[in-house]
Amino acid sequence: MYDAIVVGGGPAGATAAEDLVRSGYRVALLDRDGRIKPCGGAIPPRLIADFDIPDDQLIARITTARMISPTGRKVDIGIENGFVGMVDRKDFDPFLRDRAEAAGAVRHTGTFLRIEREGTRTFTHYRDKATGEERRLESRYVIGADGARSRVAEQEIPAGGTTPLVFAYHEIIAAPEASEQYDPARCDVVYDGAISPDFYGWVFPHGASASVGMGTYVKSVDLKQATAALRASSGLAGCETLRREGAPIPLKPLAKWDNGRDVVLAGDAAGVVAPSSGEGIYYAMIGGRVAAAAVSAALASGKASKLALARRLFMREHKTVFRVLGQMQDAYYKSDMRRERFVSLCHDIDVQRLTFEAYMNKKLVKARPLAHIKIGFKNLAHLTGLVRPEHV
Ligand SMILES: Cc1cc2nc3c(=O)[nH]c(=O)nc-3n(C[C@H](O)[C@H](O)[C@H](O)COP(=O)(O)OP(=O)(O)OC[C@H]3O[C@@H](n4cnc5c(N)ncnc54)[C@H](O)[C@@H]3O)c2cc1C
Repeated sequence: MYDAIVVGGGPAGATAAEDLVRSGYRVALLDRDGRIKPCGGAIPPRLIADFDIPDDQLIARITTARMISPTGRKVDIGIENGFVGMVDRKDFDPFLRDRAEAAGAVRHTGTFLRIEREGTRTFTHYRDKATGEERRLESRYVIGADGARSRVAEQEIPAGGTTPLVFAYHEIIAAPEASEQYDPARCDVVYDGAISPDFYGWVFPHGASASVGMGTYVKSVDLKQATAALRASSGLAGCETLRREGAPIPLKPLAKWDNGRDVVLAGDAAGVVAPSSGEGIYYAMIGGRVAAAAVSAALASGKASKLALARRLFMREHKTVFRVLGQMQDAYYKSDMRRERFVSLCHDIDVQRLTFEAYMNKKLVKARPLAHIKIGFKNLAHLTGLVRPEHV
């Protein structure tokens, strides 16, 4: 009998499991294992600090972000006093799972099937990877951290299977030599309707390799063709392709993350990825942390109603950033004209400081009210078409 079973050993699940065992609870971590999560691997300094990520997990340190507009205009944003880290999910996820195990979580490898209840008892059924047999584990609570299209969410949480999804695809390529076009310390973010009609394309260096990809909500878009176009326009068409892979990214946090009885969700399973950027690793780890705090509170008090704390704690900290990023996506990702204006806006040093502070340290800077007012006016001027992009 475990206090909690965590289904899914990605950033959300591994964090939840580690936090709970460190609080003295008996925890099982169930992961199906065997697949590398498709991911650009960009993580902010706040994550590295909050979750003690050692240097050897960082395969690249990015010091410039280049925004590229539909007409090919480039705005380079230098990252002041720091860097964006890059991790390889092939190594990062096993590192997080091993760390949870070393802290005391019991690992089980297999595929989650369903939850069954006998009176007040809760059993998690899974197919054991080694034997192929169906097994079950008993626990007081279950944390569903099994990613986008979560089976736990679909089966256990009202409206759990209904999150809208962006489809993201990338190719891992052998990194070329550094050149005018490719800089191993620079991320390129490409805003161009020909690459993605509603999201963006990216080139993220990973040391010896790089992730080149794009995402979209529009089902008719051919992701491979769009990525081929991105590689061609970035001068990366000739690089060796090491892996091709895609996965959905949830677009909107679910209204409810728990069932009021014995299950709570975390990370992509709860629909928690930042709008505009698609950043999910940090929010998944925070999701794991608040799910663990909610389960701890439920175990300590004997009240399942405490599971609702997970969503409340998360939203208290991050609701505003999600709202602002959502508005930004609605405003600027709709047409090439708007994308052009967005990249223009990125010239502004206050916009750069504001967005980068929000990304790097997960804080909206409040110190310069005049800058906010100026940005507000610029935003308005751009959206109403009062200024032309090149006049900024
Ligand atoms: C192409 C792409 C690029 C991205 N780039 C970035 C980026 O650069 N930076 C960033 O911050 N975010 C990025 N994201 C988003 C980020 O990858 C996710 O938000 C993050 O991985 C979510 O973590 P998670 O733990 O919730 O879920 P996941 O990482 O998906 O982990 C879920 C875990 O559950 C396990 N699992 C699933 N189903 C079952 C089952 N039935 N039984 C047992 N185990 C199961 C899986 O094996 C996996 O280990 C990207 C996403 C995509 C698709």
